Amino acid sequence: MTEEHIENTLVIVKPDGLKKSLTGNILTKLAEARFMIIGAKVLRVSRPLAEQHYQHLKDKPFFKDLIDYIQGKPYGPDFERVMALVYKGPNAIKRIREIAGATNPEEADSVSIRGAFGRITTKGVFENVIHASSDAKDAEREIKLWF
Ligand code: UDP
Ligand code: MG
Repeated sequence: MTEEHIENTLVIVKPDGLKKSLTGNILTKLAEARFMIIGAKVLRVSRPLAEQHYQHLKDKPFFKDLIDYIQGKPYGPDFERVMALVYKGPNAIKRIREIAGATNPEEADSVSIRGAFGRITTKGVFENVIHASSDAKDAEREIKLWF
């Protein structure tokens, strides 16, 4: 049996998730998996916050479109916001990444959140509904950044 670690992880319902009215669906999935919410807020994402969050991708050709995406620019003023959450539970980082699905929505398991609801935009950005921290170091950095 793999060892269990009680972990905190950052989840963000991205602007497309809000636009598609998926917050309830996502919160239900994570509640049914028995994760606990220890932080939650809806906020507008400033450019510096977006750029810090995605600093590991700053040299990619899609970086500008990615920053516009997480700021909700393509979706109109009502959707220039995200819901940020901190979830806690056993192996939360890896297990919530699994529930979220692979980064590319076309490669994600079809019953994962990204597989079921994500798409690739005409600009080539993976519009994949949800962010979930990828490892312990990222989770710590991201929770400090967002909360
Ligand atoms: N992304 C993209 N194209 C790529 C790689 C990433 O549009 O080729 C976007 C996508 O929205 C992804 C985000 O950039 O969720 C962050 O990328 P990362 O590689 O950190 O993937 P994640 O940790 O979100 O699965
Ligand atoms: Mg990542």
